[in-house]
Amino acid sequence: MAIRYSDPVNAIKHSDTGDILKLIAQPDMISFAGGLPAEELFPAEEIAKATEIVLKNTPGKALQYGPSLGYDPLRESIAKRMNRMVKTNYTKDNVLVTCGSQQGLDLLCRLFCNKGDTVLVEKPSYLGAITAFNLSQVNYVEIPGDGKGMIIEELEKALKENEVRLIYVVTDFQNPTGITWTRERREQFMEVVDRYEVPVIEDNPYGELRYEGEFLPSLTTFDKKGLVCSLGTFSKTFAPGMRLGWIAANTTFIEKCDLLKQNMDLSTSPFSQHVCEAWLDNFDFDAHVTSVRDLYRSRRDAMLNAMDEFFPKEVTYTRPEGGLFIWCTLPEYMVSRDILKQCIEKKVAFVPGDPFFTSEGNTNFLRLNYSCNDEETIRTGIQRIAEVLKANLK
Ligand code: PMP
Repeated sequence: MAIRYSDPVNAIKHSDTGDILKLIAQPDMISFAGGLPAEELFPAEEIAKATEIVLKNTPGKALQYGPSLGYDPLRESIAKRMNRMVKTNYTKDNVLVTCGSQQGLDLLCRLFCNKGDTVLVEKPSYLGAITAFNLSQVNYVEIPGDGKGMIIEELEKALKENEVRLIYVVTDFQNPTGITWTRERREQFMEVVDRYEVPVIEDNPYGELRYEGEFLPSLTTFDKKGLVCSLGTFSKTFAPGMRLGWIAANTTFIEKCDLLKQNMDLSTSPFSQHVCEAWLDNFDFDAHVTSVRDLYRSRRDAMLNAMDEFFPKEVTYTRPEGGLFIWCTLPEYMVSRDILKQCIEKKVAFVPGDPFFTSEGNTNFLRLNYSCNDEETIRTGIQRIAEVLKANLK
């Protein structure tokens, strides 16, 4: 049979990250590879009570088709929380509820880009954003950072040399590097973007998971022309299985997004949205996020302490103030995929860094996740990786 597939589907590259995740799914493997929230944090009993409330009080609305923009009380709660946490100035009319922030990435790329258009991304960038944008068959220009955010001169150069349609950034505890942009860099970035008038996706799934230091204002604080689209999610602060995220942006963008969303899936699950809103309404979200932060802070500390103790000095790494990831830079002669093979033999795993780049090469990086192993396991796993690293030093 000569079945033919579409160009975007034919253009999907085989993901060997998926193969790695399958390979390491063995019971005695210590995995720092995924980015999964800790299951013991999911408030299952509270969710059961919230579900009961929904089914008792509003079964018709929760089980019926719902508005494509989302459930109004939840949109309202999202806007209020953003205004409090990252100093935005949104109302519910600025919010569209999505099926996770992953859908927001797909939707916004479709909103602004045609096939062959240029998207600016950080170097490195979130792998899932790159794969989502690939469905729109765009091209990329990578902008390097310096630990404080995108290098502004490089950004300006890229904007001058290319007709850029969209910029994608993760300003808080980036996946994969764990790096957070400084306040000054956010301001400088928006000053440049404002001149070129290019829409920006500020993807912020980890912003609330700050373990130390002060919360920084979102890019929207410095956005005079309404160019920033904020992506948020309940995946890391509540439960990823709810599949609830959002796009917050100026109302013109939101209306356009709404048209797209209607055609994509009619709406995000009304049931999920009602349960989430009932949970927010009846339980203490702040207290829950505090317990999430407390657990991850101690796991991050356990990982960094073990790395300080066991890793050879030739390997450098970030010290994130929040989020879920640490990014390691190996000596240039080391290939992280070779290191991974040796680590898997010792029953420990991580994700090699190269899929987080849109350019070739970049073979000497790796990402470590600390959210879903206890402190003792983290120490054992890091010790094993350190042994492999030391054995590979020249
Ligand atoms: N953006 C970033 C930077 C992420 O790390 C993730 C989750 N790994 C997502 C978006 C997608 O999250 P979700 O769809 O669960 O909201």
